[in-house]
Amino acid sequence: MNGRAIGRIVALATAVAAPLGLGLAVAPAASAAAVTTLYYSSSGAPDYLGQIDQGAANWNAAVTDVKLVKRTSGATIKFHEIHSGGSYTNTNGHGRGDIYLDTSQVAEGFDPTRIAAHELGHNLGLPDHYTGPCTELMSGHGPGTACTNAKPSAAEAAKVQSLWVNGFAATAAASQKVAY
Ligand SMILES: [Zn+2]
Repeated sequence: MNGRAIGRIVALATAVAAPLGLGLAVAPAASAAAVTTLYYSSSGAPDYLGQIDQGAANWNAAVTDVKLVKRTSGATIKFHEIHSGGSYTNTNGHGRGDIYLDTSQVAEGFDPTRIAAHELGHNLGLPDHYTGPCTELMSGHGPGTACTNAKPSAAEAAKVQSLWVNGFAATAAASQKVAY
């Protein structure tokens, strides 16, 4: 780095520091990041309305940078119901996607609230981790039908929190299909 660049940085630091030194009103040092609201619709999966809302509520209880709100029109995350082939989502991993809940998978014994929360996890940016324990949402079908946990682990919540700290500014990937 040359001397001129260093000088510029020092000047910037001084400019930032000056108002603080003058004791002017300043924002709290640890001001929270703005919340990004994502809208989801569940009308396409009428058998799982309560489970979908619970899955969204579990995410909302675990993270603060992004919030899931149900809305009938204009939603970017849309739930649908299918009857074979397994639950999955087509998503860009950053707030936009279609989620397909498979009634036959629920009939096999897989918990629909966990499935809904898992697929929301994909839409929030998390990948599958089938070898993980039941305490992880993204272990999906891995732990079997006995696993009904529908809440993200602390690590999963922290990851989503980091992915949304800059709202939609993060680069969204091309939409891809990922399963439960
Ligand atoms: Zn999955």
